[in-house]
Amino acid sequence: MSALANYCSENLEALKKRAQYRTLKAPGVSGSIAFAANDYLGLSRHPEVVKAGQEALLAYGTGAGASRLVTGNHLLYAPLEEKIARMKHKEAALVFGSGYLTNLGVIPALVGKGDLILADKLIHACLIDGSQLSGAALKRFRHNDPAHAEALLKEHRTKYKNTLILVDHVYSMDGDIAPLAELSELAGAHDAWLMADDAHGFGIVPSGVNVDIWMGTLSKAVGCYGGYVATSKPVVEYLVTAARSFIFSTGLPPAVCASALKALEIIEREPQRGARALALARRVKSGAQSAIMPIMLGTEEKALAAAEALKRRGILVVAIRPPTVPPGTARLRLAFSAAHTDAEVDKLIAALKAEQLI
Ligand SMILES: *Cc1c(COP(=O)(O)O)cnc(C)c1O
Repeated sequence: MSALANYCSENLEALKKRAQYRTLKAPGVSGSIAFAANDYLGLSRHPEVVKAGQEALLAYGTGAGASRLVTGNHLLYAPLEEKIARMKHKEAALVFGSGYLTNLGVIPALVGKGDLILADKLIHACLIDGSQLSGAALKRFRHNDPAHAEALLKEHRTKYKNTLILVDHVYSMDGDIAPLAELSELAGAHDAWLMADDAHGFGIVPSGVNVDIWMGTLSKAVGCYGGYVATSKPVVEYLVTAARSFIFSTGLPPAVCASALKALEIIEREPQRGARALALARRVKSGAQSAIMPIMLGTEEKALAAAEALKRRGILVVAIRPPTVPPGTARLRLAFSAAHTDAEVDKLIAALKAEQLI
């Protein structure tokens, strides 16, 4: 074996010993019911969304052909960005290649060396990656604890030029919601900017609070692909020339933008879809705040065994293990969709009870 292959094999063995080895997963197999995808509103297979993509594919071809600053800014971007801005109650929006690319580009464009990032302990990995890429000092506050964020601001804010506070709106592995009103007030009082990642809230949990920057993805409730920020006009204008993941990456295929635009129209027209996903989650746990529900198990082995047991009962859920979640907090992550039937949720509840998971 080559030295490189040997190196990787050794790392893989170590992961297997810790039950942290991962494999690629197909969408649910037929005959099982999946509570595992982020297509919360069932839009990825909606006939109107599919048709909009088909029509654009025939009209404009498969690829954008270049980055948006070169010649890739095809005419589906403007209506898509206008709609996102309107739905997020912001002046303007900017669409990136994915949510990951959005965070990787936006954070380093806004802060750098000499600046401070204050982030919730449980923010998504791509916010951390964007933060590290920025070169700004990164400090973490306890999950959903604005008092801790305030203490850190009081202690450190004045040592830095600009400060960016980073949170998820809905936490991807916990399903709980950030105290945005308190954090927004804190940001105002300490001359900091607040950025919230709405990947798991959009379309399901209304975002009433006005944060400086909303970011999100078109790949979850919107059922397509791509990422976005919604913010003020000058910030968008600046990001176009400052966010490297925007500048040096090809525009989205026109068909993806057409489908996303149609999906957004449906979300506006049919708010009952988001309400249904939430109501289904609340049938399992009355306190559910979003379409995401963790069932905490602790060890990797327990989480994997629980997922296996549910699979034998025809229910597909994923075991989430470190390093995606902190050590000792391996869990099952259930994701509900407006497309689930009542009978499917009945079956889930029966299986969870039979396995003593609820
Ligand atoms: C999925 C996710 C992203 C990344 O979005 P993609 O469009 O899938 O790259 C960003 N933030 C959070 C919280 C996510 O869950």
